[in-house]
Amino acid sequence: PKALYGAERANSAGVELGSREAVAALQADLAAGARPVAATPLIGGRPAAGQARPVCAPADGTTVVGTVAEADEDGARAAMQAAAEGFRAWDRSDVARRAGALEKAADLLEQRRGLLLALLQAEAGKTIDDAVAELREAVDFCRYYAAQARRIFGAGEVMPGPTGEENRLLHRGRGVFVCISPWNFPLAIFLGQVAAALAAGNSVVAKPAEQTPLIAYEAVKILIEAGVPGSALQYVPGDGRIGAGLVAHPAVAGVAFTGSTETAWAINRALAARNGAIVPLIAETGGINAMIVDATALPEQVADDVVVSAFRSAGQRCSALRLLCVQDDVADKIVTMIKGAAQELKLGDPRDLSVQIGPVIDAEAKAGLEAHIAAMAGTAKIHLATPALDQGSFVGPHILEIGKVGDLTREVFGPVLHVVRWKAGGLDALLDAIAASGYGLTLGVHSRIDTTIETVAERMPAGNVYVNRNMIGAVVGTQPFGGTGLSGTGPKAGGPNYLKRFATEQVVAVNT
Ligand code: GLU
Repeated sequence: PKALYGAERANSAGVELGSREAVAALQADLAAGARPVAATPLIGGRPAAGQARPVCAPADGTTVVGTVAEADEDGARAAMQAAAEGFRAWDRSDVARRAGALEKAADLLEQRRGLLLALLQAEAGKTIDDAVAELREAVDFCRYYAAQARRIFGAGEVMPGPTGEENRLLHRGRGVFVCISPWNFPLAIFLGQVAAALAAGNSVVAKPAEQTPLIAYEAVKILIEAGVPGSALQYVPGDGRIGAGLVAHPAVAGVAFTGSTETAWAINRALAARNGAIVPLIAETGGINAMIVDATALPEQVADDVVVSAFRSAGQRCSALRLLCVQDDVADKIVTMIKGAAQELKLGDPRDLSVQIGPVIDAEAKAGLEAHIAAMAGTAKIHLATPALDQGSFVGPHILEIGKVGDLTREVFGPVLHVVRWKAGGLDALLDAIAASGYGLTLGVHSRIDTTIETVAERMPAGNVYVNRNMIGAVVGTQPFGGTGLSGTGPKAGGPNYLKRFATEQVVAVNT
């Protein structure tokens, strides 16, 4: 497809991976674009000092992708100070300038795809499909928020009122926004947060995940080249302590965070403990995402959608399927089909374009997943346990059948699918058990009974409900993404209400 969905603003076309010519062109760009990256903090648009360390590829644990100089506490403070000084000018700049810079950045992202896709493969362990999809999402976020900024931040909205008075509702930036992003979408979520905060007129201090600072550095350089002033955008690589320092700084006016529920709680507590302005937190966290399959579902389609939802991206998406709830009449057949399809998936270094499952992000993630699998082994029935590879942080697809929904008590962030059976007449109890986790991110339903589909969507707290399809890969502007309860604060990334949460509202009432 040339461009997706919509006339006035089209999503990025991406790459047709089924076309031989397109893949050959892509490979040439990857070969030409790949280069080592030496990232440093960027404060006021200038490189700043930091403690340098190598960043290694998770696919083998040894290939050095580049180096990052990490900021210390003084660097973090300097970044907050620079952002505080940069805020007014950026917020007062014409919205067309802010939107134009994001649109230019989107074009540059597309032009530099060789470097960016190579980094997604090497630094984040992404397969080529995932890397292409992620670059496309990053481009879409920039263009979508640019369009939304023009809609929301222009001359404002005249409100109804009495004759002789004009009442205008305006949106403005809040101040310094701290953006803390995860390693699983080191380009798309990093840029999504930063672009939204900038579009709304905020100045930004961006802290990327420790595991993936290099691609974030390239993204920041692209934004600055595209016209975002260095005073409005600071890049501060570092660990969780640096993030904690940013959040505790007196200049913070808002925090956008994507990551674990535990860290979201910690940020919320830190913000609440400050004396001063009451600062909003926009958090997107995890989920114990379920898919409900009844006896009317099409087994082949279920198997395809489960394999994509549970194992693509090595299960390292917040949206990924964790708990397959399948009606017992069809369970054996469906589990057998899923197992067969999962066994066909090629595990390996994603720089080989035929690989379908790359590594998990690091050795710690691998050890955590292995510990979970070992702990379940006593009680769960193991349908599939794919052995790991000899080198790198790989975990192969696993399918574990558990006795009841409540046996899975936390998000397991990897290619580990849990299966539970339910009996006809047991749908209500099943829905209650799923909702009892307190999470509400994605939910899948496979059924051909309309009332089942309606009941599930209406009753369940999930932010994104996917019916008779897979449950990952929300499209910007089409499936605004984000959850409720333990899964996040809303509103949804890639949706029409997102930018407003990065803004303050002001009414100017003029007696004319
Ligand atoms: N938006 C992504 C999806 O729909 C997931 C984002 C995340 O993992 O945080 O698959």
